Amino acid sequence: MAGAGMRPIDPIASEPLVSIRDVQLHYRMGGIFSAMRGRSSVVKAVDGVSFEIRRGESVGLLGESGCGKTSMGRLLLKLEEATGGEIVFAGEPVTALKRAALKRYRARAQLIFQNPFDAVNPRFSIRAALSEPLENAGIPAAEREGRIVKALELVRLPQPQQFLDRYPHQLSGGQLQRVVMARALILEPDFVVADEPVSMLDVSVRAGVLNVFRDVRDRLGLTAIYISHDLALVRYVCERTIVMYLGKVMEDGPTEDIVREPLHPYTQALVAAVPVPQPDQSHDPLPIGRGAPDPRNPPSGCVFRDRCPYAFERCPVEVPRLRQVGTRKVACHLFDDTTGKQ
Ligand code: SF4
Repeated sequence: MAGAGMRPIDPIASEPLVSIRDVQLHYRMGGIFSAMRGRSSVVKAVDGVSFEIRRGESVGLLGESGCGKTSMGRLLLKLEEATGGEIVFAGEPVTALKRAALKRYRARAQLIFQNPFDAVNPRFSIRAALSEPLENAGIPAAEREGRIVKALELVRLPQPQQFLDRYPHQLSGGQLQRVVMARALILEPDFVVADEPVSMLDVSVRAGVLNVFRDVRDRLGLTAIYISHDLALVRYVCERTIVMYLGKVMEDGPTEDIVREPLHPYTQALVAAVPVPQPDQSHDPLPIGRGAPDPRNPPSGCVFRDRCPYAFERCPVEVPRLRQVGTRKVACHLFDDTTGKQ
């Protein structure tokens, strides 16, 4: 797949739209009796994550299940409350938003759901499903139908009028995901979080939905977070990628640089695991084994050390900090000047 296409806004030249500063989402597991016996434990779904998203930028959040990417997306939309740190959107702290200000933010920052069959109420017609956000935002009834048709045209549903009285079960998965996208875009947001938006769709329709997503994003100049475990999809959609593991950022940089020369050992494993189209080329995943460790009991020091083929004596005792290495940031002692192991 080719990389992300041309954009109307230059994300490199633009200012940050979203700033994430040392954000945490920690859960306490176990009930009161476990706590009294000293057996409760804390799961650090997101642990000290910091990055910025520039206006017009598309950023992929990449990692295995349980790496914290979906939790990070939910924090960005204030669907979860951060237990530490700060998220700032267009100069306003999201973490402090309440009532009317939160409602305004929700209109500007939208989620595209993973499963279109769960995202739309099966008892609602497409007209009713798309009217709901307009009604909540106080758009007069007379204007709603025109906005709905426009949004369905934007996501390239041909002859949108014919869909208005249909129900979700009467649409294909690809058509329904376009309706979900239309609903997320109908209030003309600045920022969208797309949570694995094609993972529940048949492989044959994924490319069409992804192309619609890219096209709409470029035409509207949207700022986007694309959450996925699939590096090939992230590469197709995003110019920048943030690799997460056990709630922390491992590597952050331009997608093409990451794909061509991954620096962090975990990123190397993800890149090596992407299927190779040419059978004569080697496809040799690094020996990191399957599955991350129990998040209730992560390894000390570097959280990746149990699976890292390069772990050395410093890794269990010191958490690597995210540091600039060329065009990107990497959290690995191999790239610390003081270690001299580069
Ligand atoms: Fe591997 Fe150590 Fe780097 Fe972690 S800090 S990725 S364990 S080499």
